[in-house]
Amino acid sequence: MYCAVRLDHRTATLDHVVPLARGGAYDPGNLVAACGPCNRLKGEMLPFEFFARHPWAGSNFVRYARSVHRALKRGARRAVSLAFARADLMAA
Ligand SMILES: [Zn+2]
Repeated sequence: MYCAVRLDHRTATLDHVVPLARGGAYDPGNLVAACGPCNRLKGEMLPFEFFARHPWAGSNFVRYARSVHRALKRGARRAVSLAFARADLMAA
């Protein structure tokens, strides 16, 4: 979901988009498949923190996350466009 690598039953892990430790629910609308490295990279970050730091992950999330809560997707879209806007400012 984050780096868009192909996953199978051996490499897929379940990621809580909002981590349980940060108040996330064990609920299908809060779960996505992620590879181990991305899951560890995200750790206990909230999705907008993770996507602000790694906008590529947010772009893939916006593109591929279908079953997650709509509010998570809206928040991801906002975090990604803010991150890219910041990158443009720094490049200018
Ligand atoms: Zn990954």
